[in-house]
Amino acid sequence: MEFVLRMTPHVRFGRGAVRDLPEGVRELGGSRVLVVSDRGVQKAGITDRLVEMLESEGLDVFVFSDVVPEPPVYVGDNATQMAKDVGADIIVGVGGGSAMDVAKAVSVLVTNGGKVEDYQGVNKVPSKGLPKIVIPTTAGTGSEVTWTAVFSNPEKKTKGGINSPYLYPDLAILDPELTLSLPPLITASTGLDAFTHAIESFIGKAATPITKMFSLTAMDLIYNNITKAVLSPDDIDARENMLYGSFLAGVALSNAGVGAVHAMAYPLGAVYNIPHGAANSILLPYVMDFNKNVCVDEFRDIAYIMGEKVDMMSRWEVTSAVVNNLHLLKEAIGLDMTLSMLGVEWEKIPELAQAALRVDRPIANNPRLITKDDIIQIYEEAYGVEEDFEDEDFEEV
Ligand code: NAD
Repeated sequence: MEFVLRMTPHVRFGRGAVRDLPEGVRELGGSRVLVVSDRGVQKAGITDRLVEMLESEGLDVFVFSDVVPEPPVYVGDNATQMAKDVGADIIVGVGGGSAMDVAKAVSVLVTNGGKVEDYQGVNKVPSKGLPKIVIPTTAGTGSEVTWTAVFSNPEKKTKGGINSPYLYPDLAILDPELTLSLPPLITASTGLDAFTHAIESFIGKAATPITKMFSLTAMDLIYNNITKAVLSPDDIDARENMLYGSFLAGVALSNAGVGAVHAMAYPLGAVYNIPHGAANSILLPYVMDFNKNVCVDEFRDIAYIMGEKVDMMSRWEVTSAVVNNLHLLKEAIGLDMTLSMLGVEWEKIPELAQAALRVDRPIANNPRLITKDDIIQIYEEAYGVEEDFEDEDFEEV
């Protein structure tokens, strides 16, 4: 057996773990801290809490809170400029994937110079960055343990990651209490993003026994807690399991990659600004339906996690049950959306499919060879029925 496993070297997990932040900053030799965050996280009172905590330890603290969801490249460049202006010697990213990704990018841009766009791709960052600490406040992207920072390029209408070993944070602090303020819809979409990471890394070509172990536990935790976290936001046990699950899924995704769901979600984010988690959740059941016949054993494991009595089921029953359960899960957490509901234009589908094909690593990692025609068909299936047509039909009757 051969495998390589890379991840954030230092992880602290637990209720209240955020209190360790000042110690973490000191351990990494920081004294001038740039906290990278966004307005939603600030409104939830999380940013101010961290700033107070750091200042009370005598550290100089500066805040960049202009991160926006699906951050465009200029946000990373602006945050980098601020880090340089204030002479930051350590970066702390607090928020969902958007804030953490910006923080990770700032760390390497300060030391290497240049702009975000110069480094989008694989292994383009020449040397290490400033020390960085990340603190997730969504249970979703797993960015706290990945080598990636994703940015949209609004002019080109594309989205792409900086992927480099220098992007692994030095320390990740995972405190489930920080996710309690997450609204239900964001809990649902970010949670399904994490579930997609777990599934796609599990069935992908690059999966190894160790990444499969991470993926399996992640799927179990997320599938069996996401509905509770959405319907009962104060359920700290569910929140804790979701954060643990998204972390494990992040380790799996960073080492085993993702698949066609992600490749197809990227253009939806880039062209229509559809949040990453929502795009993944719409596409997941349809892509799984497309993949089902080439990874029946893996589907059996997934069905087992979903509570199916797999020993008594045929191959067909197992794969159908997984796809069906994914549709039911989306409904249960209020994410039974279609592409048409989110403003995607039918006539743009071939263009979107071409863009998805260019997201080459996830496309190559998908367990079943996928062509442009296949992608078009999947987008069409996820497009949904025209509600207007049904209404007219009804009136005529
Ligand atoms: P996000 O960071 O964009 O946050 C979504 C919204 O939730 C924001 O408005 C934010 O203010 C709010 N929010 C976050 N935490 C909150 C809290 N505790 N209380 C109240 N509001 C809160 O969402 P995300 O899904 O975590 O991140 C999406 C980004 O991450 C995308 O750009 C995506 O491409 C990227 N991504 C990165 C990786 C990676 O490995 N680096 C992996 C997957 C996705």
